[in-house]
Amino acid sequence: MKIVVAVKRVADPNVKVRALADSSGVDLANVKMTMNPFDEIAVEEAVRLKEAGRADEVVVVSIGSEKSAETLRTALAMGADRGILIRTEAVVEPLAVAKLLKAVAEAERPDIIITGKQAIDDDANQTGQMLSALLGWGQGTFASKLVVGDKAIEVTREIDGGLQTVSLQLPALVTADLRLNEPRYASLPNIMKAKKKPIDERTPADYGASIEPRLIVVRVHEPANRKAGIKVGSVGELVERLHREAGVL
Ligand code: AMP
Repeated sequence: MKIVVAVKRVADPNVKVRALADSSGVDLANVKMTMNPFDEIAVEEAVRLKEAGRADEVVVVSIGSEKSAETLRTALAMGADRGILIRTEAVVEPLAVAKLLKAVAEAERPDIIITGKQAIDDDANQTGQMLSALLGWGQGTFASKLVVGDKAIEVTREIDGGLQTVSLQLPALVTADLRLNEPRYASLPNIMKAKKKPIDERTPADYGASIEPRLIVVRVHEPANRKAGIKVGSVGELVERLHREAGVL
């Protein structure tokens, strides 16, 4: 069984990013970058399936600048077998990512593709869903548990107010949610080993997919500063104030 995992390089979630002065986007100059946290979870799950003998090969794919190779190396150090870097300097929207991943799927013929549930930079939460639609595969989104069989996969999904378990015929697409697992830290020997693992470099043109943007970003701005809070003397006072604010009193 082969598993393909999509990994995106994003700004480190612990870093406070700022909007550019002209509101055209986010200032990423000198910002620490890392693997999208949900993609780390996706890689971890694929590597665990390999370690459990359910999968034979884990292929990681990233679309982005040459720096995305670092993100692929991190995934290789976690235990993935090889990487594919689809190199572009352009902004690649979820539909274009999905088209490129579809082309990768057609070339690699994986049994399972795992993406993160969302990239923490654009917060789109679209790529996995679009990819499964383009491929005509079943999708198990917001996965918090996977049980992989020979012909099907059971995906437990985090939905409002509970959990839903769906069974999908393979090949299938899964998007990883926070509670699927806790990703490992790569050990130093594995980081060294990862340097020797292959990364195949391609361009979007190799896959014949159009990555032409379809959206226009009108404005990016920071949230308004929050007002300072106040201290109340008792629960009773708090309830009274909340009622007053809500216009109940
Ligand atoms: P999004 O739909 O943008 O929120 O992204 C959802 C998931 O799609 C991410 O967690 C990644 O697994 C995958 N993805 C999005 N953009 C890229 C990219 N440029 N390269 C590789 N994977 C990506």
